[in-house]
Amino acid sequence: MGQILIVGAGLTGAALARTLAEAGQRITIIDERDHVAGHCHTRRDQGTGIMVHLHGAHIFHTDNERVWNFVNRFASFQPYRHRVKTTSQGRVYSLPVNLLTINQFFGQALKPAEAAEFIAGLADRALTNPQNFEEQALALVGDDLYRAFFYGYTKKQWGREPGELPASILKRLPLRFNYDDDYFSHPHQGIPAQGYTAMAENMLDHPGITVQLEVAFDHRMKADFDHVFYSGPLDRYFDCQFGRLPYRAVDFEWFTAPGDYQGCAVMNYADQEIPYTRIIEHKHFSPWETNEATICAREFSRECRENDQPCYPVRFAGDNALLEKYLALARAENKVAFVGRLGRFQYLDMDAAIGEALRLGERFGHLAA
Ligand code: UDP
Repeated sequence: MGQILIVGAGLTGAALARTLAEAGQRITIIDERDHVAGHCHTRRDQGTGIMVHLHGAHIFHTDNERVWNFVNRFASFQPYRHRVKTTSQGRVYSLPVNLLTINQFFGQALKPAEAAEFIAGLADRALTNPQNFEEQALALVGDDLYRAFFYGYTKKQWGREPGELPASILKRLPLRFNYDDDYFSHPHQGIPAQGYTAMAENMLDHPGITVQLEVAFDHRMKADFDHVFYSGPLDRYFDCQFGRLPYRAVDFEWFTAPGDYQGCAVMNYADQEIPYTRIIEHKHFSPWETNEATICAREFSRECRENDQPCYPVRFAGDNALLEKYLALARAENKVAFVGRLGRFQYLDMDAAIGEALRLGERFGHLAA
């Protein structure tokens, strides 16, 4: 039986701990925060009873059956379809860009094939092999829709020109020539009825797992374990010896209101002049519950500084030399695997993080047993 240390009790750490424990390993999992579930942390507001996503919107969606079966062992998922709106130049539009968005924006009544042809006429056909976010957007929808919906939002969100960012960021969003306004295309979507923190706690509720909260990682801990999985920030593990990797942090400006503030869970603000990227109205993530009051948060994205909670790793379309240096150190590190969004420095969704944890858990569970 191996002794394994997992650093970070977010979804990656919790799923990994469970898989390894079920394979017969003994796990100690530490987190410097006073709760599990990392950035997916949810808590019921005491005054209103509203389930609040403390670090922003988390909607579980996947096409991976294994991942879906796994999470359903630890939470009762309520059906939820994510429908996002955006405000651009004082008008509200449907997202992701779909036939309604196109018809609203251009004042048209196009049918699917007509819209596809119309947008193809606006797209930049010279960009056959888009190299960055901006080129990807111009190749897909052309300049007008790019400026209206993507340029300002992306600049606010990432603090960089979209031309510096990878095309993969835009590829997260579908483009549809029908009226399907589902933000995600995955067959399985939902939100745990009792929140993500309860789900992570259930994953960690196993006799082979010891959870230690408010405990920071210290390199000396490695000596006590056969293997370490580290899901904290990659650069921090190496004491930021080459300088800090760029992460984005998010500040939330919380406010309450009576009734229904904006009529949907997420309203994006596409214009650069509006300093926040979006407003989240939390009760709309639990449409199966009723609440007279409402709790909202404006999201302000900014560069992550020391002692901030890193949220989004910033990868570049071109030069990622600093990251490469850290990844080389990570590969050379003995007995330690770097996992999760912060440890791998990858923009991973929850299902991808859990999928990785299940794969790793299986591999290491058998190896070390
Ligand atoms: N995006 C945008 N306009 C929008 C929504 C998204 O330009 O109205 C871009 C932006 O760069 C964002 C990316 O698409 O970072 C991915 O969007 P997603 O909604 O997946 O972001 P998340 O919810 O992970 O913050």
